[in-house]
Amino acid sequence: MQRGDGQVQRGDGQVQRVTSSSGDARPPAVDRLARSLADLGLPHPLLVDAAREAIAAGDASSARERAEAIALALLRPVVNATGVLLHTNLGRAPFGLALAPRSANLELDLSTGRRGSRNQRAGSLLARAMGAEAALVVNNGAAALLLVCAALAAGRDVLVSRGELVEIGGGFRVPEVLAGSGARLVEVGTTNRTRLSDYERAMPAADVGLVLKVHQSNYRIVGFTESTAVPALVGLGPPVVVDLGSGLLDTATPWLAGGPPGWLAGEPAARQTLEEGAALVTFSGDKLLGGPQAGIIAGRPDLVAACARHPLARALRPGGLVLQALQETALAYLRRDGDSIPFWRMATAPLAELRARAEVIAAKSGAEVVECSSAVGAGSVPGKELASAGVAVAGDRTVALRAFDPPVIARVRDRRTVCDLRSVHPDDDVLLADALAGIVGPREAAGDAGCR
Ligand SMILES: *Cc1c(COP(=O)(O)O)cnc(C)c1O
Repeated sequence: MQRGDGQVQRGDGQVQRVTSSSGDARPPAVDRLARSLADLGLPHPLLVDAAREAIAAGDASSARERAEAIALALLRPVVNATGVLLHTNLGRAPFGLALAPRSANLELDLSTGRRGSRNQRAGSLLARAMGAEAALVVNNGAAALLLVCAALAAGRDVLVSRGELVEIGGGFRVPEVLAGSGARLVEVGTTNRTRLSDYERAMPAADVGLVLKVHQSNYRIVGFTESTAVPALVGLGPPVVVDLGSGLLDTATPWLAGGPPGWLAGEPAARQTLEEGAALVTFSGDKLLGGPQAGIIAGRPDLVAACARHPLARALRPGGLVLQALQETALAYLRRDGDSIPFWRMATAPLAELRARAEVIAAKSGAEVVECSSAVGAGSVPGKELASAGVAVAGDRTVALRAFDPPVIARVRDRRTVCDLRSVHPDDDVLLADALAGIVGPREAAGDAGCR
């Protein structure tokens, strides 16, 4: 409805201005405006959204900017120059999987032509790589713990140390996952000290389905502390489940030619935890395992089978894409080929190699070589730093770098924008140099050249 004051009452009751720079021009038709944005490559309905919003805001000329914002919000590959190797906002472990548009033998046994199990490959191969008798793959680490508690302890008690009732982030809180599974939480000990005798005291009064030990991940209790190790817990009787979180398969890292890096010291691993007598371990696929987002339940075959039979297993199962990616990861571990797992390749890249890459990028772009320290991230091995090298430019240029295609995600340190090369794939060095060359101002680049 046209009103006398140059405004329109829309169907939804909102009022919008219709005047434009030329004064009395009518708003351009939404459809025509949307068509003028076709070069952005977005589907027409999304361009219509941008055009409609722009007209509603009384600023038709903002339609392109709005459409660009819609395009920018889509999922896309980015260059992670943050130095946080497993960056939760960037999908944790980097992973590439190229697949032809074909079906896969997801639930077909190729030898018999009959129905097979989707858990036969990735699960069994990972079990083999960590020396477990059986393993089941679900959607993520939270799903793994939820399924274990639902399948093995619903309506029963689960003993957990008060020091391990943690929140990992992103809404994962151990007491809430337990409640969701239908198991009852029995808190044992104190926040800083939980002894075997605390568990023993809780046993008689409880109907214990499981004893659960949870890796504290991204937080530490230091000072006057005590916790009970797996071998002691095993003596209590009920199955001991250890939520390892990070998914280090073996403390000896046989997939790394140089052996375990120093920063890994003290990180519990699936193989050793099972050897200590844990009935099951659970962990994520996209942390130290270096695979796609997934959750793994590994250990005693009868317990793994009980998890697989539980109705929730169907709701928590991953799809074929994830299982193929995880199978690739498992095969790389079995080949002892850590270099083909992107996370392990970047985590173990020698400092000299990173420095040499930084020199090349600096020479091409006018940026400056700087020392960096990377972090593993995703709550894994918190507080440990990995010496690294990178390049820096003056000021906060993170917005300009994010606008690059593909977007480059950097950090600001001491009023400089720093790109840490440990988290950047070497194939992306050329992209990074181009992006930096584009944002280093002529004066700055010239000044830099003059100083050398
Ligand atoms: C990360 C983590 C989880 C959650 O795993 P997601 O894969 O993020 O669901 C659970 N427990 C521990 C100890 C963790 O570190």
